[in-house]
Amino acid sequence: MMSQGRLEDLRVKLDAINLQLLELLSERARIAQEIGLDKEKQGVPKFDPVREKQMLEQLVAHNKGPFDHETVRHLFKQIFQASLKLQQADHQKLLLVSRKNKREDTVITLGDVTVGGGKPMMIAGPCSVESYEQVRQVAAALKAAGITVMRGGAFKPRTSPYDFQGLGVEGLKILKEVASEFGLKTISEIVDPAHIAMACDYIDVIQIGARNMQNFELLKAAGDVRTPILLKRGLAATIDEFVHAAEYIVSRGNNQVMLIERGIRTYEKATRNTLDISAVPILKQETHLPVLVDVTHSTGRKDILAPCAKAALAAGADGIMVEVHPDPATALSDAAQQLNIEQFNRFYTEVKNSGLL
Ligand code: PEP
Ligand code: MN
Repeated sequence: MMSQGRLEDLRVKLDAINLQLLELLSERARIAQEIGLDKEKQGVPKFDPVREKQMLEQLVAHNKGPFDHETVRHLFKQIFQASLKLQQADHQKLLLVSRKNKREDTVITLGDVTVGGGKPMMIAGPCSVESYEQVRQVAAALKAAGITVMRGGAFKPRTSPYDFQGLGVEGLKILKEVASEFGLKTISEIVDPAHIAMACDYIDVIQIGARNMQNFELLKAAGDVRTPILLKRGLAATIDEFVHAAEYIVSRGNNQVMLIERGIRTYEKATRNTLDISAVPILKQETHLPVLVDVTHSTGRKDILAPCAKAALAAGADGIMVEVHPDPATALSDAAQQLNIEQFNRFYTEVKNSGLL
């Protein structure tokens, strides 16, 4: 049996080796970080499987035991992965939209309302602008409720080419006219990069729809203006893809970007999409941008809008978007999911009464 003194000696040696290993690992990590920054500049991928294979082969060729080759491979694979993670964390830190890059919340001012300033807000309005009178009726109801930011689609990205495509510029003109009459701010979707500059003359916020979240030319055009952008999460976009889409806009100089979760595609059929509530705190943590939740398109069901809006606000959302139409049954798009004015008032009161809005 090993004497107590010898055991102590060996343990002292192990402790010293642990510290040496730590020092070497840290040194290795610093070099890996430098390589990561260089790769970043050159635009080459961080993970290089060929190089990794070469390093492992070299290690195995020098392995004299007592660890077998598999164990040596496994141990070093762990070290390589940790280094790669470090390089990726450095990359995240470099994103302009990331919280690591800017600690303070980005606050966007829309008239008397701020988005992202700690006081949640509500955006409401019809799915599509259909007529002057239709928008006017919604505007009057919003004004009466105390809501000053109105949405309305003029360029509609529809699944079928035979469905109503929106009134186009005519729709933007209607929005502008009604908004000036009621003192409202407006949001409308733009689908063509060539329309971005023109849209700034008519609306206060340009929406980039879910189907266009990775339309990079559209994102670049949105980054070249100074009008606030409401960027919707793609139908099947990961949070990382969503964040990078926002980075496209901000990297061109437009830092007035709001993110909006609108549900993602899953196998669930009870709702139109699956509202990813967890995206809200994650996006708030990872970025400094305002984060909103579109309860209409995420659920596609009028009966659960209020609880979902409350859940979104409880999770830290800076705002809620909801669709309202004077006569949803006759709506030219999203007839099944828009609230009529009375339903909207009930919804708004219920959310307000929660104390979260
Ligand atoms: C919309 O808000 O009008 C819309 C089309 O939503 P999404 O892009 O989220 O489907
Ligand atoms: Mn809609």
